[in-house]
Amino acid sequence: ETAPDTPVTVPLRAAVAALPAYVPGARPSGTAHKLSSNENPYPPLPSVLAAIQSAASEVNRYPDMYATELVEAIAAHVGLAADQVVVGNGSVAVLHHVLEAVVEPGDEVVFPWRSFEAYPIITAVAGGSAVTVPVTADGRLDLPAMAAAVTERTRVVLVCTPNNPTGPVVPADDLETFLASVRRDVLVVVDEAYLEFVRAPEAPDALDVLRRHPNVVVLRTLSKAYGLAGLRVGYALAAPRLAAGIRATSTPFGVNHLAQRAGIAALQAPALAEMTAHVEALVAERTRVRDALREQGWEVPDTQANFVWLALGERTAGLAAEAAAAGVLVRPFAGDGMRVSIGEVAANDAFLALAATWR
Ligand code: PMP
Repeated sequence: ETAPDTPVTVPLRAAVAALPAYVPGARPSGTAHKLSSNENPYPPLPSVLAAIQSAASEVNRYPDMYATELVEAIAAHVGLAADQVVVGNGSVAVLHHVLEAVVEPGDEVVFPWRSFEAYPIITAVAGGSAVTVPVTADGRLDLPAMAAAVTERTRVVLVCTPNNPTGPVVPADDLETFLASVRRDVLVVVDEAYLEFVRAPEAPDALDVLRRHPNVVVLRTLSKAYGLAGLRVGYALAAPRLAAGIRATSTPFGVNHLAQRAGIAALQAPALAEMTAHVEALVAERTRVRDALREQGWEVPDTQANFVWLALGERTAGLAAEAAAAGVLVRPFAGDGMRVSIGEVAANDAFLALAATWR
């Protein structure tokens, strides 16, 4: 045990000492409705559970280092070659590896704000310098402003579509104009964590974008639509040379054996059909919640993900605490707004009842 009065003289890297905290959604106790982490409210699919159970007896062995079968299943699913797929311990880990593969100390990483709260952390850990570009008042990425923020020092631009936590997608035409205007040696990450919930016709076809712009990396996950957040499986799609670089920086054995087997099962036809049905129901719930909020008089951005955004400003923290006391866990960003995931009908109803009292 360390004596409490022993001073620690090992310095942390300046960038690490200054990191903002990643605040996870509260874990529910008892009967609370958990609408704080954009999770899938449906329980794991039977075929996925069976795969985890049969893999459990094998965990005395290391997993397949390169998750070959899982990579092949993802490649087949998206229609790319296996050398264009890199998996990791959630897409958040994959994004770490992407930046570690290309960012030199002090290189600039441009990203929207507010957006996914891991972006500033991952940028700083990789030794990059964050350049943030405000989203518009209606929660959209301002791609012209992001293009204008690119300098000679820019190495990476992060494009979150749909944007977490505000919800809108980047229109395909805007992304095309943006990509045409940035240097080919700037890596553009298109983070599609919520892809399967997108219904807007103007949304980009990221694989087509990737084919035409080899400086693009597409980031996806099994955490949201596939409902495997607790297993941690995410992936990047990239040109083979970039994919190899991302693989080189990845944690050895970074996707555990249970996660590999579950991920493979989740990508088989029967599970895919069930997943699609669940996503369809969640999309219908999203429409219902959004319309009910607008009916109550809220201005809700055009969300294409499994959450809605309320720009509550200074009221955010107080109302999130009130919601928690009423058994509804939401995700507040103090002084800015509240992100509320789409959950079970009863959970969404509980949130809508609260929102009505806040008008
Ligand atoms: N990107 C975005 C935009 C997200 O919202 C999230 C999850 N909050 C992730 C990536 C990471 O998801 P995971 O690590 O579970 O794949």
